[in-house]
Amino acid sequence: MVPSKDPTQTVPTDPQEQQEERPVSSLLIVIAMQAEALPLVSKFNLSEDQDSPFPKCVPWIRYHGKYKDLEINIVIPGKDAMFGVDSVGTVSAALVTYASVQALKPDIVLNVGTAGGFKVKGACVGDVYLATDIAFHDRRIPIPVFDQYGVRSRTTISTPNLVKELGFKVGKLSTGDSLDMSSQDEELIRANETTIKDMEGAAIAYVTDLFSVPTIFVKAITDVVDGEKPTAEEFLENLSTVALAMEVAVTQVVDFINGKRLSDL
Ligand code: SAH
Repeated sequence: MVPSKDPTQTVPTDPQEQQEERPVSSLLIVIAMQAEALPLVSKFNLSEDQDSPFPKCVPWIRYHGKYKDLEINIVIPGKDAMFGVDSVGTVSAALVTYASVQALKPDIVLNVGTAGGFKVKGACVGDVYLATDIAFHDRRIPIPVFDQYGVRSRTTISTPNLVKELGFKVGKLSTGDSLDMSSQDEELIRANETTIKDMEGAAIAYVTDLFSVPTIFVKAITDVVDGEKPTAEEFLENLSTVALAMEVAVTQVVDFINGKRLSDL
């Protein structure tokens, strides 16, 4: 089925509509891991919410504050109650995004995080990418139309000025619930010409599409998926340095957004 709302259409193209459009004032940043979020929390001088909009029983955390002209919220899904590790993956990402969009009504969402990169598509550890397209690679439903629903491939909002000004790499992002890659996942990833692989992006896109909130995906490469090193080992080795590169990149993105309208991006 064709999605009823196309998020690429949320940026006004009509000149009159553009004139009425106000600058972005509220920004929601969704991040899967605390180690990825904390450098940004201190960079933007945010404080942890003592009176969270989330139900008491959930581990989700909201950090918020004012940075330049922007109201910034960073939300993370927090630690899993049973295992004490970050609640990575699509289920918690979708839930925390849903609750945050409902409660905070952001003008724009940024999904920031680490990702695997494909060297065959030019990715190296430490690169920062903006995703042009997004899809799932582990939702195989071999029935007509359900197959497309499963992959749910779609284009993200176009931000030509942001890409040009900041000079980040651009590429297609593919999401699945595993850090490793099965041969079936690999087949689909290659068929989709994917450059970056994560565990949250397409789930977050699903939610922000429902609410027609424009969303930008900023992904820093911690590991080369088609390289020699085992992914988990390479990921852990690079996480802290890449989190710092990500802090620099996200600050540039936020500074660029500050004072601009969606159509200026
Ligand atoms: N072993 C890690 C677990 C992190 S899971 C730990 O100890 O904390 C990986 C996280 O980084 C997810 O949020 C995912 O979006 C991202 N990620 C980084 N490299 C990835 C890859 N190659 N494939 C999928 N996700 C990746």
